[in-house]
Amino acid sequence: MQSRNPWPGVIAGTLLVGVPIALLGWSMGQFWATIAFLLGAALFWNLSHLLLLERWLRQGGRSEPPDVRGLWGLAFDHLYRRRRRHEHRVHRLRQYLERYRDSARAMPDAVVVLNDDLRIEWLNEMATQLLGLNWPEDEGQRITHLLRNPAFITFMESARTTPGSVTTPSPIYDDQQLEFRLVPYGDAQFLLLARDTTHLHRLEVMRRDFIANVSHELRTPLTVLYGVVETLEDELADQPDKARSVQLLREQSERMKLLVDDLLTLSRLETGSPQGPPQWVDVGAMLDTLKGEAELLSGDQRHRIEIHAQHGLQLQGTENELRSAFANLIFNAIKYTPAGTRIEVRWKSDPDGARLSVIDEGPGIARHHLHRLTERFYRVDAGRDQRRGGTGLGLAIVKHVLARHGGHLEIDSQLGRGTRFTCLFPLTITRTQPIESAKN
Ligand code: ADP
Repeated sequence: MQSRNPWPGVIAGTLLVGVPIALLGWSMGQFWATIAFLLGAALFWNLSHLLLLERWLRQGGRSEPPDVRGLWGLAFDHLYRRRRRHEHRVHRLRQYLERYRDSARAMPDAVVVLNDDLRIEWLNEMATQLLGLNWPEDEGQRITHLLRNPAFITFMESARTTPGSVTTPSPIYDDQQLEFRLVPYGDAQFLLLARDTTHLHRLEVMRRDFIANVSHELRTPLTVLYGVVETLEDELADQPDKARSVQLLREQSERMKLLVDDLLTLSRLETGSPQGPPQWVDVGAMLDTLKGEAELLSGDQRHRIEIHAQHGLQLQGTENELRSAFANLIFNAIKYTPAGTRIEVRWKSDPDGARLSVIDEGPGIARHHLHRLTERFYRVDAGRDQRRGGTGLGLAIVKHVLARHGGHLEIDSQLGRGTRFTCLFPLTITRTQPIESAKN
């Protein structure tokens, strides 16, 4: 193999051989014939090397190149080295690919590589076990043709642009639950990941059933207790020392009743489907009724409640669920703001949908509490808030109601300035009716 610069040798060789021969031809009066001979020889030399190169390449160019000198040696050398480098790179890439595939094979989750048209490019063994897919038979098949669960198909339609996850029953075993996620990577490719969440699902169902059952079971003894307390209150009306204890008993049993009711509402929202088909709800009329109830709750505190509702703007959904969500927000504004405070409720549409805001000028909520407010039993000040009669479940109920209507809750607050709770609803469940026909 040759790696030195051959140019000096080529020029020296040409001069050393060509010039004496040309001079000899000239002295013999055959100058042009000698030049023609020299050019012919050069042509022959180049052609023979070209043939060598062609034969070497035809054999794959992997063996050592022929031992030739000059420019041709340099060309062979370059080609050979380039070929070696390329093979080395391909080998390394193959190793990487194998390593990635080994790790994907060893994953406890199902992994399916999909192209931009959601057709299968590769899958691991867990995908065969969990999803019933076969490799290589299913290569090139559209994943939604093989996994036909409607929730999965809807998820795949939207997941390419909006990341998220979906849990559906396994296509193989009805009692197995699988969680799917779609992860975009590389150049318009997707990784579909699926994991067995049966265990988590069962725990979740157990938790929900437990809460629903306990709440339900507590209802009857509480009703009895409440009845007895009322009777006692009447009987002991003329004994103030005992009446005070009975009054305490009544307050606490009322609190327990509220708690049980809220727990039952929450578990119904989590498990049950809405009762009956969705209706068009006249939110403005609902807010007027809630205003009356809020004024009763405020009583002597005389909060100033203002309703600004866009006329005829309706929302499609479950009326009692929506009322419970809006009531929670308005009643909270009364509970957590000082007497006489202004509370504004706005209901209006915008290009994205419709929004209901409850704005108060109360003490506000510190920033670090905001993301936890919708957790069950989360209170900013446990002792103080409990004394105000809250169950700690109100905002959890609001969050669930909104989720069931495709909406979500936004909370803005500034300490010392007030709080704004905004329920956002998608455009698809809103409509504006002319005022005279605003009723269904
Ligand atoms: P509760 O039933 O105890 O009112 P919620 O889930 O409705 O529970 O509210 C959770 C907590 O959020 C409350 O305990 C209170 O600390 C805080 N909160 C709710 N609304 C307001 C508000 N308008 N102003 C200040 N704090 C509020």
